[in-house]
Amino acid sequence: MNMHIELPVNLHRLGELAYNMWWSWNPEAQELFRRIDPELWEKVYHNPVRLLQEVPQERLEGLADSDYLVAYHRVMADFDAYMHPGESWFAESFPAESDHLVAYFSAEFGLHESLPIYSGGLGILSGDHCKEASDMGVPLVGIGFLYPQGYFTQRLTADGVQEAVYEKLDFGRVPARAALGPDGKEIRIHVQLETRTVYARVWHIQVGRNALYLMDTDIEPNDPKDRVLAARLYGGDLETRLSQEIVLGIGGVRTARALGLNPTVWHMNEGHAAFLVLELLREQVAQGKGFAEASDYVRKHVVFTTHTPVPAGHDTFPFDMMERHFWNFWPKLGLSKEDFLGLAHQDQPWGPSFSMTVLALRFSGKRNGVSKIHGAVSRKMWHFLWPDKPLDEVPIGQITNGVHTASWLAPELYELYNKYLGPDWYDNLDRQDLWDSVWDIPDEELWDVKLQLRTRLIEFARERYAAWKERIGASPDEVEAARGVLDPKALTIGFARRFATYKRATLVFRDIERLRRIVDDPDRPAQFIFAGKAHPKDGPGKAMIQQVINLAKYPGLNGRIVFLEDYDINMARYLVQGVDVWLNNPRRPREASGTSGQKAALNGVPNASVLDGWWPEAYNGANGWAIGEQEGYDNLEAQDADDASHLYSILEKCVVPMFYGRDDAGIPRVWISVMKETIRTVAPYFSLRRMLKEYLDQMYVPTMRGLIE
Ligand SMILES: *Cc1c(COP(=O)(O)O)cnc(C)c1O
Repeated sequence: MNMHIELPVNLHRLGELAYNMWWSWNPEAQELFRRIDPELWEKVYHNPVRLLQEVPQERLEGLADSDYLVAYHRVMADFDAYMHPGESWFAESFPAESDHLVAYFSAEFGLHESLPIYSGGLGILSGDHCKEASDMGVPLVGIGFLYPQGYFTQRLTADGVQEAVYEKLDFGRVPARAALGPDGKEIRIHVQLETRTVYARVWHIQVGRNALYLMDTDIEPNDPKDRVLAARLYGGDLETRLSQEIVLGIGGVRTARALGLNPTVWHMNEGHAAFLVLELLREQVAQGKGFAEASDYVRKHVVFTTHTPVPAGHDTFPFDMMERHFWNFWPKLGLSKEDFLGLAHQDQPWGPSFSMTVLALRFSGKRNGVSKIHGAVSRKMWHFLWPDKPLDEVPIGQITNGVHTASWLAPELYELYNKYLGPDWYDNLDRQDLWDSVWDIPDEELWDVKLQLRTRLIEFARERYAAWKERIGASPDEVEAARGVLDPKALTIGFARRFATYKRATLVFRDIERLRRIVDDPDRPAQFIFAGKAHPKDGPGKAMIQQVINLAKYPGLNGRIVFLEDYDINMARYLVQGVDVWLNNPRRPREASGTSGQKAALNGVPNASVLDGWWPEAYNGANGWAIGEQEGYDNLEAQDADDASHLYSILEKCVVPMFYGRDDAGIPRVWISVMKETIRTVAPYFSLRRMLKEYLDQMYVPTMRGLIE
């Protein structure tokens, strides 16, 4: 149900703006909505559709004749210029490919906090990928799910036990509309699960110039268990997971067809979507091709990105489960059951299984990991699929992840970059020479902005922390104390990520007395802000959250370590912009890439990180700190001990003295030089701009040109 929005005539385009996610990376557009009713803006969690639905009519009428109109016209002019550029970067660079289309499949899309259909790095990357494709004019549609209950909201008890709360998303109140087919009618697709037909409707979310199409099975005439099939991201059991992936892959191809789209590149972002190759094969066989010829065709149009070096992160389904769902499918490919299951056979401890990653690797023409290290680890991991090739010729390349600059950069810094990098820096943001001008920013100006951003973070953290204390039944005194935690002037270290155990959130607590001496120094205090969710079924991950919360109660730490509930995109923005150091200490080589540290660096926040994922490609000795050695250990206990000890000495010998080393004007000159070197070396290369250009050069454009062997 779409609630009616009644807008004054002279502001009538606010509705159009609310339904294009462009606002989510345009601070002035957000400000336009916020100004309508700042309190309501917070209450609706920065969702402009809800804001416009809920704001009293008089409030809108009152705005229409103030200077609000000036801002309104400016934003609408920017919006129009964005939507209708003379010629986009892509059209200019690849004029012969302008009628091609990339269909980008992902199980999660992290676009904005008001649309909780992402869980972590994978989803954020998908969202950023779509936004950047829009910025560059790359013809791309995203395909995935609009999960009615999304990913969970994290609630923590006083003891730090994580509880998962699912809230039903009201699709009438998010920037989604029914997707229409070429005949102007709402589309509906279906797939077969076991012996039944399951239907999905499709929602359309506009992301700048491109569309995102999201399926939803909560409709008639699906039976109740299928209506909740895709209720939650990564919810349910293995059976649910398989069913979701059938809808995503097979249903996703049918969605594109129902929309009248004809993608020439099909990009599987992680193996979740790999069943799309089965549907493409089926289409080809139905047109009269033999299986070998159909396979050849599919490989020339499909590309695949793998995202994790952790074996358990790759979905596999037992053969008997596959048989129950695909008994009617393999005949359509002209295959026997054995040949069909053999397409993606991987033995698991629990028996022969069908591996989504094997399927994806076998039927894609181009494949990549998401950092140099991860590329190498992936080649090793999947070498058995190409036993005749030497390791370094295993055909899996690498494209290191990046972040969508406008989505993560503090508006204050955007202004500063405008001033010192030149007004067209954003159009050329992957050009290294432009960023060398970061050295021209006066220390005082950068430090002034840093203080503003840290203060904003501390205010946010206090409010969240006090609200949590109140909810868990703390006394009024405790709640009051919570409103005064943290110090806007103190060295602030951030650790926020998914709580998977390999990320070692408790590492810094290994020697709690040594930690106490670091944080509780009266002249040079340090403080930590932690945040992160564990998957509801990850017991050890949840236990780690609890440990952090309980360790932080250690009296000597004096309240200088807080854990904030419910990490999401909104909180991530405050953190990556506001802290002074971004801490990352996973167990090598488990971190495929990581992107949060890139967001921090873009905002002048140096990383203190283990040399894993993207960091070895960026670290140059002057733009942050490397924890530990590059090699992994066989003895995990020894690795933890060494890494913890090295982390303490980095904090004691480098970070603290440098942060508090001030000149007569109170400015930490050396520290600011590290901030600048961080921005200069990370912002251009670890941007989605550079990353998407690599996807174009290595994967999309060769596929469009039919150059894949
Ligand atoms: C960026 C981001 C992530 C991914 O960051 P990592 O470096 O992989 O931890 C996860 N969650 C949120 C909310 C983010 O903004």
